[in-house]
Amino acid sequence: MTRIYFDNAATTAIDPQVLDAMLPFLQNGFGNPSSIYSFGRETRLAIENSRKSVAKILNAHPAEIFFTSGGTESSNTAITASVRDLGCKHIITSPIEHHATLHTVEYLDNRDEAKVSFVNVLPNGHIDLEHLEQLLASTEEKTLVTLMHANNEIGNITDLHAVGNLCKMYNAIFHSDTVQTIGHFPFDLRSTPVHFISGSAHKFHGPKGAGLLYINENVHIKPYIHGGGQERNMRAGTENVYGIVGFAKALQIATDKLEEESAHIQSIKYYMIEQLKKNIKGVSFNGDPMGRSNYTVLNVSFPKSEKSEMLLMNLDMDGICASGGSACTSGAQQGSHVIRAINSNPNQIPVRFSFSKFNTKEEVDVVVEKLKTLI
Ligand code: PLP
Repeated sequence: MTRIYFDNAATTAIDPQVLDAMLPFLQNGFGNPSSIYSFGRETRLAIENSRKSVAKILNAHPAEIFFTSGGTESSNTAITASVRDLGCKHIITSPIEHHATLHTVEYLDNRDEAKVSFVNVLPNGHIDLEHLEQLLASTEEKTLVTLMHANNEIGNITDLHAVGNLCKMYNAIFHSDTVQTIGHFPFDLRSTPVHFISGSAHKFHGPKGAGLLYINENVHIKPYIHGGGQERNMRAGTENVYGIVGFAKALQIATDKLEEESAHIQSIKYYMIEQLKKNIKGVSFNGDPMGRSNYTVLNVSFPKSEKSEMLLMNLDMDGICASGGSACTSGAQQGSHVIRAINSNPNQIPVRFSFSKFNTKEEVDVVVEKLKTLI
């Protein structure tokens, strides 16, 4: 059975060119980057070249780029460091963040290290910026604002400049989980008012377990993993050399082909919207799919019926991979905290379809035909 993979917001297939760039570091280039002889010097150079390449693409300084194990570690670090090292006693976030953020702020709240406020989310899934300003104005305490750039379940995009400028006005720290947008949008960090961003290679055809934390040069946090002096004393532990090389290569490929590939993916998303409207009665869309939305993500609500209740499982039996929400809720329809925050209709089955450069409109046709029999 040929499978159709429409769950690229969960993870993406590795690009063969990324694998080719990584392989030498899984084979002969195995030296410890901290070793002073040639094997070590070669892997050190590969890491520092990767850092320079990533920094150039994001328009940041190489000293602002830290390689981590992924988006989860990066967001945990930025949020925790803001509280412990930068004096933030108040955190503003939203109820539709990824659990890497929500569970971290909950942990800090439970330990009384910070008080957490949730900004309102509008019915179309966008952050209520007026409410954000009210929350910022309502506290004297140093505040961290942590809001994601693109939501991984519904695709809504938050304006980093709008949020960052509000943060500037109230002297707040701003972290953005940009895991769904690094490698999918152009970034110019020098002109973006943000203190921290998080990224993850496996969301743009790179390897799993390779992430990025950008820390603006004006922000000084303490080392967050103790041990050797790697990552300029900030994150100890022998570096994930092939992961780092894969991160940089994947970002470079994504950037080189951004215009062409984003147009291709966007056209698949729009085509699917059109085909669903034409072929499935009662279908609706969550978020703002034709507006400020990530071109990779389409969140659809299907009318609930005895048949449609097992939708994801039935799709899977036909080789169609989609999800009910983020990867932790996919497969089992336990309900998504994001959909609950914006859509209280219990008679709908939400399904996230998310696309990559490897998908085609023909695949959309196959999926829509199948959906016609399952709703
Ligand atoms: N943030 C968002 C928005 C995500 O989609 C993900 C991916 O699952 C993460 C954070 C976590 O990233 P990682 O899997 O690299 O830890």
